[in-house]
Amino acid sequence: MHLTAEEVYDRASPRLPELSRATVYNTLNELVKLGEVAEVSLGSRTKRYDPQTAQGHQHLVCERCGATRDVHPAGADRLTLPTAERGRFKLNRVEIVFWGVCSNCVRSPDA
Ligand SMILES: [Zn+2]
Ligand SMILES: [Zn+2]
Repeated sequence: MHLTAEEVYDRASPRLPELSRATVYNTLNELVKLGEVAEVSLGSRTKRYDPQTAQGHQHLVCERCGATRDVHPAGADRLTLPTAERGRFKLNRVEIVFWGVCSNCVRSPDA
């Protein structure tokens, strides 16, 4: 599940008619600060929110329809940024995105 704030709103609003978009955005920001939800940017400008923060996973994304899967790439746990490349940055996290074409999109090449 990697929903945009707008998708979170669309799913919640039928059950919570009082809910405003601002509340959804603020709540998501709070959850990110608390580490309950991870913010991921998967190619598009829209941020997505990922409830799977516990184990460090990465993403596999369909470049046609945007379908996203959580993946655990081999070797990613040993990925490092040499000091010379890092400069004076304090590193917080790494995001790796694997791009491909999902099975649905492979079957319908025109879509
Ligand atoms: Zn696809
Ligand atoms: Zn994920």
